[in-house]
Amino acid sequence: MKKKKCKKCNKMKVITEFSKNSARASGLQEWCKQCHKDNYQTHRATRLINVNIYYHTHKKYWQQYYQDHKDKLNEYGKQYYQDHKKGD
Ligand SMILES: [Zn+2]
Repeated sequence: MKKKKCKKCNKMKVITEFSKNSARASGLQEWCKQCHKDNYQTHRATRLINVNIYYHTHKKYWQQYYQDHKDKLNEYGKQYYQDHKKGD
C-alpha cells in the first residue's frame, strides 16, 4: 500500500491515514489524520484555557466597572429599551 510521510509527526503512514485535500498536488493533506485531530484538540484546550485566564483576570475589572457605572449603565439600558420599544 502507498505510503506518505506526515509533515507534522514525520512518520511514514499509509495514504488512508491522510484526509483528502484537492488543493494539494498530492490530493492529500500534509498532516496525517491523527495529527490533525491532536492539533485540533490542543488548540481547543489552549483556547479554553485562554478564555478562562481572560475571564479571571478581567472579572474584577468588569465588576468594578459595573459598580462605578451602574447608574449610567442602567440608565442607558432603560433608554435603549424605550427607544427600541417605540419602533414596534
Ligand atoms: Zn502525523
